Amino acid sequence: MKIVVIIPAAGLGTRMTSAASAKDKKPAASKQFVELHGTPILLHTLRSFANSPEIAEIFVALRKAEIEPFRERLQRETPEILKKKTVLLEGGENRQQSVANALAAVAANSDDVVLVHDAVRPFVTEEIIRDVIAGATKYGAAITGVPAMDTVKQVERTAEGAIIKATIPREKIVMAQTPQGFRYDVLKKAFDEAGADGFIGTDEASLVERSGHQVAVVMGSPKNMKITTPADLELAEFFLKR
Ligand code: C5P
Repeated sequence: MKIVVIIPAAGLGTRMTSAASAKDKKPAASKQFVELHGTPILLHTLRSFANSPEIAEIFVALRKAEIEPFRERLQRETPEILKKKTVLLEGGENRQQSVANALAAVAANSDDVVLVHDAVRPFVTEEIIRDVIAGATKYGAAITGVPAMDTVKQVERTAEGAIIKATIPREKIVMAQTPQGFRYDVLKKAFDEAGADGFIGTDEASLVERSGHQVAVVMGSPKNMKITTPADLELAEFFLKR
């Protein structure tokens, strides 16, 4: 059984725009290229998978203009990552399309496992990777997630903000993280169906759920955070210092 990982890294990261760059009207760096201790977040993330003995191949979806500069940077600064088969390819308009492009480049058997992991979650651990692989092998589909700590409200958006419509029992909520892992045939079927129906989801599990396959959840970690805002970046710097 082969295990490959797809890393969608073709986002623009508009939520990462700092006040300073907004004022200068300069485009902010895509969030996966923002540096943590002098190294782009994406490289930290790639290292975790390059160091994981289970992973055979790595597929990274990037914006077209970033592919060649990134390949040169990998060769120059982190040749150890390239010891594994690493494919850099063009991403799409949204996360789902970026993953679909990468999935089209993957050659796998039905029972091989495909993991998908956000470029901007650099603190993924070997234990989480292993747990998701075990879940995907056993159930066909498994993601990592954490219990909700806050009370979750369903709201209706208004011009001023929002009005609460319902309180969702916290014990019924899990906050989905990545990696999300699937048997190749399960993920391929879900993507084919979503493509045919024009369905766009914000993660791979939502596509697999709608294709009728159960998805298991394994325990993630609050540290496996998605770096989205400047405040997340400060927290990430703090984690890295420790
Ligand atoms: O923007 P969002 O939080 O959904 O991004 C999650 C991940 O998906 C990021 O790693 C981002 O680079 C990636 N992405 C992508 N292609 C897009 C949009 C987002 O690969 N068009």
